[in-house]
Amino acid sequence: HIAPDADASIRETDNDAAVARLSAAQKGYLHDPYIRHLVPRAHLQQPRPPLINVGTYVRGAAIDALVEQWLQIADKKTKKCQIVSLGAGSDTRFWRIANGTHKDTLATYVEVDFPEVTTRKAMSIRKSKELGAILGGDIQGGTALHAGKYHLLPGDLRMGPTALSTLLTGILDSSLPTLLLFECVLVYMVPSASDAVLRWFVDYFSDAKTPLGAVVYEMFNLEDAFGKVMVSNLKSRNVSIPGAEPYRNLEALSQRFLSTGFNTAHSETLREIRRTWIAPDELERLSMLEMLDEIEELELVLEHYAVSWGLAASGADASWGGWG
Ligand code: SAM
Repeated sequence: HIAPDADASIRETDNDAAVARLSAAQKGYLHDPYIRHLVPRAHLQQPRPPLINVGTYVRGAAIDALVEQWLQIADKKTKKCQIVSLGAGSDTRFWRIANGTHKDTLATYVEVDFPEVTTRKAMSIRKSKELGAILGGDIQGGTALHAGKYHLLPGDLRMGPTALSTLLTGILDSSLPTLLLFECVLVYMVPSASDAVLRWFVDYFSDAKTPLGAVVYEMFNLEDAFGKVMVSNLKSRNVSIPGAEPYRNLEALSQRFLSTGFNTAHSETLREIRRTWIAPDELERLSMLEMLDEIEELELVLEHYAVSWGLAASGADASWGGWG
């Protein structure tokens, strides 16, 4: 037997996320004209079930809301900000922002993922006229890609502080407000490794006293019967999730920020977010797209995912993410 490559299984999860996003876009849940350029053979992909489409929508809407608010505050206060997406996979957020109302506020956008993932993404970007047009200029790239404000960087987030410094110093300006996005990635690493990543950023930005925000999206609360099914499904695909173990409730998710140097932290389940962040007419619109017979089943699924967010540095705008 050849030992299965655990990291290869983790990288595979990007395909799930991208195909789910493509499906939600094709079914009209969300608007994303870019994702089809990043999914291989996009036109041949089968749509995902309604439950997955709704979940993908709620997750995206939650992170969109936090990012939008961050950009709005930066618009008013500093005129410039940076966003760093860790474990970015095939995410299209850069193109959505770069083609949106806050494009001038975004000074730098960095994505980090395993080299296998960044190489593939860099290739897709170079192949797509539409993605390339938004990047503009001369697109350089192999395992990394640099074009204008956009930087796609290969790296293993478990690399430790010295390697993180080597990767990011020179690209990130420590005097600009910076938002970190960890969308379904910290769960794949042991807590000591993810804490080290959060601490590195807190340290990097602490001297300038510039606001540092972070958003984490994650599965959690996996102790009950449904959670155990989620864990065993992942295990059958050789995906282990050591980063889920300590996070049994929302308090624990918030505590992660406080114990790594952030000053404030909030957490909410996707179930709560669907109920309270999404406008009634938007929920109405979604309910017309596809038949979803069991709201209880949807809520059970959404209770096993959470968004948490924290803010570090004095003088930071406490109104960011000021829900709940
Ligand atoms: N954030 C994207 C999204 O939400 O669409 C992708 C999510 S996907 C479930 C997880 C991503 O995290 C994969 O692209 C995987 O390669 C990346 N990842 C997991 N562990 C990583 C690590 N140690 N270093 C770098 N990337 C990692």
